[in-house]
Amino acid sequence: MLTNDQLTAWDREYFMHPSTHLGQFARGEAANRIITGGSGVFIEDRDGTSLLDAFAGLYCVNVGYGRSEVADAIAEQAKTLAYYHAYVGHGTEASITLSQMILERAPEGMSKVYYGLSGSDANETNVKLVWYYNNVLGRPQKKKIISRWRGYHGSGLMTGSLTGLAAFQAQFDLPLPYVKHTEAPYYFRRPEAGMSEAEFSKWCAGKLEELILAEGPDTVAAFIGEPALGTGGLVPPPEGYWEAIQEVLAKYDILLIADEVVTGFGRLGSMFGSTHYGLKPDIITIAKGLTSAYAPLSGSIVSDKVFEVLMQGTDTHGSFGHGWTYSAHPIGAAAGVANLKLIDELALVDNAASVGSYLKQGLTAALGKHPNVGEVRGEGLMCAVELVEDRGNTTFFDADKKVGANVVASMLKQGVIARAMPQGDIIGIAPPLCLTKSEADTIIEAVRTGVEEVIGLG
Ligand code: PMP
Repeated sequence: MLTNDQLTAWDREYFMHPSTHLGQFARGEAANRIITGGSGVFIEDRDGTSLLDAFAGLYCVNVGYGRSEVADAIAEQAKTLAYYHAYVGHGTEASITLSQMILERAPEGMSKVYYGLSGSDANETNVKLVWYYNNVLGRPQKKKIISRWRGYHGSGLMTGSLTGLAAFQAQFDLPLPYVKHTEAPYYFRRPEAGMSEAEFSKWCAGKLEELILAEGPDTVAAFIGEPALGTGGLVPPPEGYWEAIQEVLAKYDILLIADEVVTGFGRLGSMFGSTHYGLKPDIITIAKGLTSAYAPLSGSIVSDKVFEVLMQGTDTHGSFGHGWTYSAHPIGAAAGVANLKLIDELALVDNAASVGSYLKQGLTAALGKHPNVGEVRGEGLMCAVELVEDRGNTTFFDADKKVGANVVASMLKQGVIARAMPQGDIIGIAPPLCLTKSEADTIIEAVRTGVEEVIGLG
């Protein structure tokens, strides 16, 4: 076995990590951590340190770590048939069964699942589906996609364009044409303090309509949004938001893509965010919780309405010219089947609802009155504590102070992993859905101590 020093040396010499300060890492100025195991909500590193992972990896390990049911299903599939493609009508028992299980759980009106490997490639697929749809319908100019500032939809070329966060665009010549952004449903940072949630939702819908009219409704194909914003700050939508948005989309015949990469499969305390908030999407993006990240797999759930048009398209133009080598990979599909069974058997969706509300109440009780805590928010097991310099007027801390990152670092010293979200000082908490109340207490205490250490008692 390699020594820690040897592994660390190779890590810095050979491995280019995603979302990492490359120079600092290569020069040894930024920490590395080598993870060796996990069980439930805990992971362990090579130094033997056990950490409560309050962000479930990248909010994807929904069933928790170390589940032998999923691992065994993967091993069995790998031994029987590690791979066959899904082109021209090929399938495996796992990929067919998983499709049935997804549709059984999906909101009403959905028809088929198309598989990919990541949330990003699923959203790339979605853009192509929407373009193809409008080509078949004889309106080739209807191609623009509207997303929200602070939305996160991936880091490919098109999906990085849809992602409305500066860090994912500025250095990469994005966004590409065809992508437009509208206001985020971020009530905490509403334009006028006196606005009610319902008024703010109407304001967001009004801004969307203005943008559609400015671009020309016959050029706008789809609107993409996470039912509750994830990476942009873990923000549940304000009251009436999706109702108001969907009214505008219907008026201009614009498709709705619900990006449920994070919210799908239980995170908000419902199987899907769409049903939780009353969305009627035309396409749903799934990934992460589909396999709890035991193997890479994503999907686009396509509605009856869209699928009818896609079928017309292939009747006219021939086979559907879009696919990945690994679409519906049997190992991912086997992981998905075992994972969805486990979510049901352990009643994890209900657990996310009940322990999630306990967690939010506890965070509110511990921090809600702190003068630098602007907001404690959340739904199910997706919570955030937003830190501000001045709670009265929601002023950001100076970014150089890295207040959010420092609180997260303090939590790490206490044995709890949270995530400093990329825009603002937002402490993100989205643990595995098997979290217990006593583990929730540990998280609450770590955030409270972290805030106290970094900002003081206020
Ligand atoms: N959509 C959403 C809502 C996401 O949160 C993410 C990833 N965090 C993606 C898409 C992209 O998924 P991936 O990183 O698997 O490409």
